[in-house]
Amino acid sequence: MIVSKRPSWDKFPGAEYTVALDVLMPDGKTLQVGTVHNLGTNFAKTFDITYEDKNGEQQYVNQTCYGISERCIASLISIHGDDGGLVLPPEVAPVQVVVVPILFKHSEDVMESARKLSERLSKEFRVVLDDSEKRPGAKFYEWELRGVPVRLELGPRDLERGEVVIAPRVWEGERRRSVDIDAVEEEIKKEFENIEKILYEKALSSLKSGLKLCSTIEEAKEQVMKGIAIVGWCGEEECGHVIEEKCSCDVLGEPVGSEYEITECVVCGRETDRCVFLGRPY
Ligand SMILES: [Zn+2]
Repeated sequence: MIVSKRPSWDKFPGAEYTVALDVLMPDGKTLQVGTVHNLGTNFAKTFDITYEDKNGEQQYVNQTCYGISERCIASLISIHGDDGGLVLPPEVAPVQVVVVPILFKHSEDVMESARKLSERLSKEFRVVLDDSEKRPGAKFYEWELRGVPVRLELGPRDLERGEVVIAPRVWEGERRRSVDIDAVEEEIKKEFENIEKILYEKALSSLKSGLKLCSTIEEAKEQVMKGIAIVGWCGEEECGHVIEEKCSCDVLGEPVGSEYEITECVVCGRETDRCVFLGRPY
């Protein structure tokens, strides 16, 4: 996501200023997922909220407020999902590990071991044992669709060898591998770290490739159709509105904590080092 200070005409009413978090969605539009407002003393004055300072005098408090929207779930689904369905980061996945027993005739041993393994893993992870009647392939498909980060497969041959097959939802290198059943907790943790890293890097690179510094209105107009444009802005509200109108977009705000090489306002040509993100919000 990008973090920016909303323009004065788009801040929370009554706030000194608003900082917002916008996610660049795969279709090139932006989704506001959270905001932080600096309310200054505006609300303290209205509601008479004061404190006593060191000189014994009453002062109005400064306040902030913030909100994270459920839309962060929508962005998580869109950004990380793939053609196989949901892809959930392990930290937020309701089910982190699914255990799928591979059953043949007379495989009570396998079912019993799968049950024990699930119970053991439940101490550390959110685990589901899929003991339904479905075929293993159908189970794999369903749990992939639901974005479960790690699948464990346990069949008679694995059991004989004291192993279990581990298959992460996203991977680099090996898709599936056999691991020692007694050390599976460590292997799951390794996979979790790996998944978080893969998802983060993929998301970061798609955000970076969707951002472009533009030096003309025409260039910015084209860029906002597929992502976020960055343009020089003198800080005048009038120039901000000209940009919004000519590019059919919103001024999202001034970047917080990022540096771009800016020399002039894209509208009036005045010298400036300030800039704004432009996008098409949902
Ligand atoms: Zn200007």
